Amino acid sequence: MDEFALIRKHFRGLTPPGDDVVLGIGDDCALLVPPPGEELAVTTDTLAAGHFEPKVKAEDLGWKSLAVSLSDLAAMGARPRWFVLALTLPPELAADPAWLEGFARGLKAMADQGCIALVGGDTTAGPLSVTITALGTIPAGRALRRSCAKPGDRVCVTGTLGDAALALQLGLATQCARFDPAREFLKNRLNRPTPRLVTGRELRGLAHAAVDLSDGLAGDLQHILEESWVGAEIETDKLPMSEAFERLSPAASRLPLQAAGGDDYELCVCLPPEALAEARRKLSQPLTEIGRITREPGLRWLDAQGRVIDADLRAFNHFPAPAAPAAQP
Ligand code: ADP
Ligand code: MG
Repeated sequence: MDEFALIRKHFRGLTPPGDDVVLGIGDDCALLVPPPGEELAVTTDTLAAGHFEPKVKAEDLGWKSLAVSLSDLAAMGARPRWFVLALTLPPELAADPAWLEGFARGLKAMADQGCIALVGGDTTAGPLSVTITALGTIPAGRALRRSCAKPGDRVCVTGTLGDAALALQLGLATQCARFDPAREFLKNRLNRPTPRLVTGRELRGLAHAAVDLSDGLAGDLQHILEESWVGAEIETDKLPMSEAFERLSPAASRLPLQAAGGDDYELCVCLPPEALAEARRKLSQPLTEIGRITREPGLRWLDAQGRVIDADLRAFNHFPAPAAPAAQP
């Protein structure tokens, strides 16, 4: 099958185009109509071979490739509208209809859940890599940014933290586990994250700042602190955990998994105390308060007694600094 037949068979017609698509897949460009008075939110993410388990199911890869971009749109409070897909395929996968069908099925399931339309892309041969650029819209001036957190704001997160990191540590990504609901739950949290799209939009006008948790709380919250010129204290005993996480993680390994594990795709938001009360009434999903923003810079982790924990919690980094050479005697 050539490239054009592959696009026609698997991607053209994958998602129903809405009124905001004048022209979708098939021409040199897509033609799109943003609603008047709204700003465009644009984000791009690549999942490259090496960045995920080689044996991960095609369907899960399709889902997650789009989910990570939708999570960025959620963090800005944007409504998803359109995405383009740059797909690089090794010849054996391009010639494998079952793989392509699985990938397209996972992609469509996430697209339908996020109400977003596939409007174009690019298909090339090479080592497996999936790049998705997603576009959303936000009423002008109402986006949630990283740069507006204020001292006194409460730091909150959606959902639970550490599930995906624990799944990875337990090697569940590609395991067809004997049926165990806890392991199955963790595996799904890793392979099929749920972007918090509705909550992101509901937080517009309530939250001062937001970020989605892709690399781990330690690193992602640090972005808010740097952009907003503030610090934070996090009460480690308040970090929300799922039942499965609690059952399958030894207590000593919980903090690194929850604070630095990554792949949660939850939202971390900073709200003034009065907005938090309103958010609790209005949001369709609960928020857990985990700490507060401080004038003093830096990120401090506190134990249940309020003492600072001396822990080296580092987020996932694609380009870690090389280890420092041993000191010369
Ligand atoms: P061009 O060479 O003009 O860039 P292509 O031949 O690469 O166009 O693609 C033909 C059409 O198919 C375009 O509309 C493009 O956006 C779309 N397309 C290509 N690859 C994909 C893909 N993986 N998913 C969705 N649409 C795609
Ligand atoms: Mg062209």
